[in-house]
Amino acid sequence: MSEEGMLDEVEDFCRMCGYDEDRFWEAGWPTSAICDCCGSESGIGDMGAKPGSWSGVEGLHSYRGWWLGSGARWERPRQKPRDWDVLRQLENIPPQWRTAAPPPVDRARRIAERASSGSLGTETVCRICGLSGLLFWRDGVPTETVCPSCGAESGIDDLGTPGVWDALHGIRARRGYWAAVGAPWAVPAARPSEWDVLAQLACVPDGWR
Ligand SMILES: [Zn+2]
Ligand SMILES: [Zn+2]
Repeated sequence: MSEEGMLDEVEDFCRMCGYDEDRFWEAGWPTSAICDCCGSESGIGDMGAKPGSWSGVEGLHSYRGWWLGSGARWERPRQKPRDWDVLRQLENIPPQWRTAAPPPVDRARRIAERASSGSLGTETVCRICGLSGLLFWRDGVPTETVCPSCGAESGIDDLGTPGVWDALHGIRARRGYWAAVGAPWAVPAARPSEWDVLAQLACVPDGWR
């Protein structure tokens, strides 16, 4: 029996997106079900995940962050409920796959990593959540602006190389975690009353998806 299976006899919620119309794990083994919603296959994308720690679930967050940043498209669109609420669905993900907090940031290390990371030049859209209208990067240099929506700081929490799959892991994982815990605003007063998280995520530039 795999270690991750010890936790639950059966898992009827997709670990990535919380969709609950299928049986994904049974008696500790993946059923190879393909999620109608996010399209991940149990036993593939979530193999090797370990519950309850950031390092164990980072891969799940990263897949979710990629999916959300790429339009949150349904694998089988006909299954999509008319009143679908992505954040409510994500709440279905069991806490052991969802809520472990990332480790504290080593600022000095992140600043050192800037030299080997990329940019799109001047960027006014948050790489993590798609909030637009603030100067996050100027001519390839981070302004260390904290995003009022997702709370990421440019040049610290959003390092990566645009368009390079492996180099987007951290950005995607942060995006996936943020959404999985309810997409809380760092500055709650800045949250528009009619706010659509998917519309905002759709603004994430292609290079950071
Ligand atoms: Zn799913
Ligand atoms: Zn943001």
